Formats: sequence, C-alpha cells, structure tokens
Amino acid sequence: QVQLVDLVKDFGQTVAVDHVNLTIKDGALTGLLGPSGCGKSTTLYMISGLEQPTSGKILFDGEDVTEVPAEERGIGLVFQNYALYPHMTVQQNIMFPLVNAKVKKEEALARCMEMAKLVKVDDLLKRKPSQLSGGQQQRVAIARALVKQPKVLLLDEPLSNLDARLRLEMREEIRRIQKETGVTTIFVTHDQEEAMSITDEIVLMKKGVIQQQCFPQRMYLEPANQFVAGFLGNPP
Ligand code: ATP
Ligand code: MG
Repeated sequence: QVQLVDLVKDFGQTVAVDHVNLTIKDGALTGLLGPSGCGKSTTLYMISGLEQPTSGKILFDGEDVTEVPAEERGIGLVFQNYALYPHMTVQQNIMFPLVNAKVKKEEALARCMEMAKLVKVDDLLKRKPSQLSGGQQQRVAIARALVKQPKVLLLDEPLSNLDARLRLEMREEIRRIQKETGVTTIFVTHDQEEAMSITDEIVLMKKGVIQQQCFPQRMYLEPANQFVAGFLGNPP
C-alpha cells in the first residue's frame, strides 16, 4: 500500500504539491488526473524517489521509504517519451534491469519471455526501438518496468505521444496488463476521458491540492466542487 502523508514539494516560486494526504488502493489501477502543471509528475517522482519532498512522508506498506533511494523502492516507471535504450534490442531492453541486478542469464531470459508475451512483443525481440511503432515501444517500456516485479507501477502520461487510434488501443492494453499482473498502478494523465474509462479510482488534483478521490462514475455524478464538475465537462 502506498501512502502519502502531508506531502509537500516547494520549488521556491511554485508549491507543486501542497500538503497531499493520499492512500493508493492495493492491486488497483488509480488515475492521477488534473490540468497541466497541477503537480501530477512531481507527485509521481516523489513516490518513485526521483524527487525528494520538501516535507511529509511516503509509506509503502506502512514503512517509511522517504529516505530510501529510488532503485531500492521496488518501483517500475514508464514515461511519455519511452526512453528505451536505442542501441539495444527489445530483448536487451526488457532484460536490462535484471542484468543490472546480476540475475542469472537463464532466469533473466525466462522473465523476459514472460514479460514479452504479457505485453505482446514476443515476436519483436530482435528488433531495435527505431524499428518499432510508438505503441510497440510503449509495450516494451511497460515490460521493462515490470520485469523486476515491482510493488508499484508508475505511468506518467504513457500514451500522450501516440496518435488517437493507438491511444485507444494502448489504454485498453494498460487495463488488461494491470488486471493480469494485479500490480498496484498509478496512471497519470490530463485526459479525463482516458482516466474515466480504465481506472478503478480517480484522484483529481488542482494546483498541488487533491480535489476529490473516488470511483470514476461517482466523480461524474457527485463532483465535490465546481472545479471537478468543470474539469469533467459536466458543469452544474
Ligand atoms: P503536465 O500535465 O504538464 O505534465 P504536471 O501536473 O505533471 O503537468 P508538474 O510537472 O508536477 O505538473 O509541475 C507542477 C508545478 O511545479 C508546475 O508549476 C511546474 O512548473 C513546477 N515545477 C515542476 N518541476 C519543477 C522544477 N524542477 N523546478 C521548478 N518548478 C518546477
Ligand atoms: Mg507531468
């Protein structure tokens, strides 16, 4: 379970995250939604350990991990610009976190195959990233993020570089992969329709402050305030 306790990130002129208290549901797909600049990425970076909070705490299963380095937190990360290693094949990309952790070759290969099948790139293992479509590259990025069996998968606008058709296809794929693995997932997006369509729970932020956290349909039917209603395109 991921818990944020009174979390603050102050960049000087901007308070990106302003006293956030949040519990993320275990084994669920949670959407972190809000307009550009509201603090979604900053929140995700603090959970992952890439960014250190100004104050507050991050707990995993009740344990304070605020001071734990990113690579020891058991997090899988996917960004919008896939950031695959361009000189490596698909297989080498997926296996990289295991090779890095000195996992035995056979075990690493077996894990890689399992992940490649899960995300449906098992026929593309010998290709380089430049020989893949945007959607295929994101599939590989997801496989690489999951290969070490992270406790939490963090996706920061993973679909925003894709064209409309691929976005639709890939969001269903993210839903499927999350269900099949059961990994606790936080999916950052500024697209309310995307968040509504695939998540189990939505957290809506505005200027670093959480406006509402609930079941997607409920946010639509019972928006907590004018901002929520307006953002969902259903003003009172
Ligand atoms: P987007 O949807 O555009 O990705 P976001 O919700 O992810 O937006 P953040 O990237 O978390 O927003 O940024 C929140 C606020 O913090 C913004 O006002 C941003 O300008 C500011 N900010 C983010 N990173 C830094 C930084 N390193 N230094 C100073 N200000 C920053
Ligand atoms: Mg962002």
